[in-house]
Amino acid sequence: MRIDLHTHSTASDGTDRPAELVRLAREAGLDVVALTDHDTTDGWREAAEALPDGLTLVRGAEISCIDDDGISLHMLGYLFDPDEPEFARARELVRTDRVRRARAMVERCIALGAPIRWERVVEIAGGGAVGRPHVATALVEAGVVADVSGAFTPEWLKDGGRAFVDKYEVSAAEAVRMIQAAGGVAVFAHPGANKRGRTVSDATIESLAAQGLAGIEVDHLDHDDDTRAHLRDLARGLGLPTTGSSDYHGSRKTVSLGRYTTDPDAYEAIMDRARGVAPLAL
Ligand code: AMP
Ligand code: ZN
Ligand code: FE
Ligand code: FE
Repeated sequence: MRIDLHTHSTASDGTDRPAELVRLAREAGLDVVALTDHDTTDGWREAAEALPDGLTLVRGAEISCIDDDGISLHMLGYLFDPDEPEFARARELVRTDRVRRARAMVERCIALGAPIRWERVVEIAGGGAVGRPHVATALVEAGVVADVSGAFTPEWLKDGGRAFVDKYEVSAAEAVRMIQAAGGVAVFAHPGANKRGRTVSDATIESLAAQGLAGIEVDHLDHDDDTRAHLRDLARGLGLPTTGSSDYHGSRKTVSLGRYTTDPDAYEAIMDRARGVAPLAL
């Protein structure tokens, strides 16, 4: 069983349509793939309708959060009811504020001399939840930086960078609570991704575990070996399963589908706790 529990489509900042993503997932030899676009479930239907034989689709989302220390983090929610009003409203708030914030970042880029246009960023986002990777793509097109990751620097869009603007983020504890209240399960995405900015304390992970976290993403491109070992220890102490996933973004990142995978027992343990929607298979 090859299980990849974290991917992005054009519903957020990935470059493959949801239908293409599930086709590629099967082609890559995956048995299970989770679609986890930022703050949206907009890709669920298309992915479900295009589901190839032999592939199980776990419907999910990656929620933009902030902890009590003011540190940004990402919470994966799986198998929640997309229509549960409170959580749906929270995702909508984040998506709406993403637009304001992306516009503000474009203005800052322009003020810094980058010849980009908001209208072009809207085209690039193509109706998906707009984010820094879309602004980054505009910067690449304008020849300001060589590639998308070249825009995630202090000069441009990195956290705290010259053109960076904060967005509204959900309290992490609230996100865990809302995901569960909507029948889903919460897994802490890449808690130790320290190249992106400050990362959460162990105390925050422990407190979220006490709120009902169902797992911790450990095998991820942005975690080095020491980080993985530490998170594995922490998870073991908390009695939580760990996951591995690609965090695939199509051509906006170099990582390929199935680059990291999740152990089938951990997958079962996590998904067995959900009662919102079920994993989908033909
Ligand atoms: P946002 O949610 O708009 O703040 O943008 C965050 C997204 O940017 C995340 O999904 C990351 O995958 C992506 N990202 C962060 N750092 C990098 C990087 N160095 N290169 C490419 N993408 C990145
Ligand atoms: Zn992303
Ligand atoms: Fe993330
Ligand atoms: Fe992600």
